[in-house]
Amino acid sequence: PRSNGTSSAPQSYVLVTGGAGYIGSHTVVELIENGYKCIVVDNFSNSCYEPIARIQLLTKTEIPFFKVDLTDQAALERVFEQYPIDSVIHFAGLKAVGESTELPLKYYHNNITGTLVLLETMQKFGAKKLVFSSSATVYGDATRFPNMIPIPEECPTGPTNPYGKTKLAIEELLEDLYNSEQTRWKFAILRYFNPIGAHPSGIIGEDPLGIPNNLLPYMSQVAVKRRQKLFVFGNQYNSRDGTPIRDYIHVVDLARGHIASLKYLDKIHSSEGICRVWNLGSGTGSTVMEVYKAFCLACKIDLPYEIVGPRSGDVLNLTAKPDRAIQELKWKTTMNVAESCKDLWNWTTRNPSGYQAKGVVNKFFGAPNDYRCRLVTVGKGSGFETSFTNLGATLVDLTICGKPVVLGLGDESEYVDDSNPYLGATIGRYANRISGGKFNLQGNAYQLALNEKAATVHSSSQSFHRKRFLGPLVQELKNNVYVVKFVLFDAAESFPGDVEVSVNYEIDVKAQTLSVEYEGRLIKDESTVMNLTNHSYFNLNQFQYTDCGGTQFEVLSDRVVEMDTKNRPTGQIVKWWEPSQFIFSSTESQYDTCFVTGSKSSIDTRSNELKDVLIAQHPESNLKLTVSTTEPSFQFYTKGPGVTKSRDERYGFCCEPGRYINAINLPQWESAVVLKKGETYGSRTTYKFD
Ligand code: NAD
Repeated sequence: PRSNGTSSAPQSYVLVTGGAGYIGSHTVVELIENGYKCIVVDNFSNSCYEPIARIQLLTKTEIPFFKVDLTDQAALERVFEQYPIDSVIHFAGLKAVGESTELPLKYYHNNITGTLVLLETMQKFGAKKLVFSSSATVYGDATRFPNMIPIPEECPTGPTNPYGKTKLAIEELLEDLYNSEQTRWKFAILRYFNPIGAHPSGIIGEDPLGIPNNLLPYMSQVAVKRRQKLFVFGNQYNSRDGTPIRDYIHVVDLARGHIASLKYLDKIHSSEGICRVWNLGSGTGSTVMEVYKAFCLACKIDLPYEIVGPRSGDVLNLTAKPDRAIQELKWKTTMNVAESCKDLWNWTTRNPSGYQAKGVVNKFFGAPNDYRCRLVTVGKGSGFETSFTNLGATLVDLTICGKPVVLGLGDESEYVDDSNPYLGATIGRYANRISGGKFNLQGNAYQLALNEKAATVHSSSQSFHRKRFLGPLVQELKNNVYVVKFVLFDAAESFPGDVEVSVNYEIDVKAQTLSVEYEGRLIKDESTVMNLTNHSYFNLNQFQYTDCGGTQFEVLSDRVVEMDTKNRPTGQIVKWWEPSQFIFSSTESQYDTCFVTGSKSSIDTRSNELKDVLIAQHPESNLKLTVSTTEPSFQFYTKGPGVTKSRDERYGFCCEPGRYINAINLPQWESAVVLKKGETYGSRTTYKFD
């Protein structure tokens, strides 16, 4: 992955507490874009790992993550022991006003004890800078004073609920700590007004658990019919239309406010301290009905709503006076309510069920508490389930009516074991055989490690099957159609050039189709070699898992790449000498043959039509697999040595579409595997089951 941070940025880390949450996740994106290196801790009490995986894809950066509850000092200290942390942005906290009045102990314990433990740990490890998420709630009803709307930081505080009181108590704690050692601590207290919207990419956004407490997430759930109608609490306020006035701020603007305050703290001399409050708001108030109309305009739906009585504790007007932030932090909002609504709607339509797409189950696949390796199952409960892991962007399982049709292993450790014959993995940077493991590119000779007597197969030790891809991003494109996207940044020592490779699986649950699309780009140097494929072992006999004998094959090709007696491609394409339809009987000879599909060979074959190239069927299960590809050839493979330690070599068959075998050493085929700067490698293959 891209290094987490740039050379101009400080080499120490920013710890983001609550970084899997709404504002935290958007701030992590901005931190990375501004060259900061960050670590996230969260206890997932109001979030999940999904946004972290998505941010890694969005920013193309690996982000260390630890599931830590801030009240657990030992766990937090382990994070500080592992990383040099000099600043903290502290989002972790409970925030539901209504719940806080019912469960004050929970709120005081979580928010205040969590912050105390954090500050003690910072003190112990010498971290001095903290940006704290406070809230406009600390002001209470500012209309009780004359001339306090818009609200300046000098407005006297007076929170009206336990949540707001925890925020004020933490502000006071920070003030006291600063006063005890004014040359040590640098504290930025940010009082947010009403954050709304989502990242313009539509990849991250707000996904509250349970019934949303805030206007915008509630409206978006009404728009996608997760809720019936909007309730407007009171229309008898002394405002333009009788509904209360709030200061709404795009969450990306708010996130940037954190970068501005962190930079402000960074500039303060190391022998000086600070503890200062800044309002983060737009300075413009909007009524509930104005925001309602803006959102209806963005989603082009007249959302049903009902006016009900005012909520206790609600006040007429909470609009910020943001002048201090504008002058001192050189920060101001850049996006208005209409733009926020547009981004919110974009996020909502791409993720109608938030981070938890319907029929998708997330698990972890590596060692306990290692969040880097995930197992994502798509189509759960549908009769067509597919599971993928980050390691090798591997297809771990594909079940039809609960029975597997591909071979898979139990966890990450089994996949990294030497006995794993690339089960289900993405093969790269160069799939299939390179004779002698040697090739020349732009006048330079390259030698890869051999893993066969006189050849390198599937890139040998440099293969993608042991590399952790970023992601996946899992989205439901439309009903029952999902995309699972992985990205890898690969700087393999024995190949020239650094590359970015994305693997997009598309799963159509109803059509029982799995498609895979590869895209590769050079990100450093002038050229490299590339040939990508998937190495799934299929077994369509759903009743007898130890032998795929009996499978009926039809190869939709009558030509193959000729091999010499030492199994080296001669560079000739010759007629296939056996029948195109055959049964893989128990005594049948085994296959390792490169068939030619007739499709045009080029670096990006995606403009070719998807051509059916192999049909496999098993008489007992009556299951049929049709493989279609845009690629010029496919390796048909049924032999060992040994599929796994415990399984014999007849356990599955492979159909690996790709470029001609050993193309890099054959001038007539070479151009389809040489990826030059500015070009895109691409291919598409589909596996359809009937
Ligand atoms: P959020 O709930 O989406 O994010 C908070 C995150 O903190 C969650 O991921 C949660 O799992 C985590 N968390 C809570 N307690 C934790 C603990 N003890 N240890 C570790 N992680 C813990 O909320 P958000 O909207 O992103 O708000 C972030 C911060 O900003 C909160 O402190 C909130 O009070 C404050 N704030 C939010 C708003 C708003 O309207 N969203 C307004 C003003 C202030």
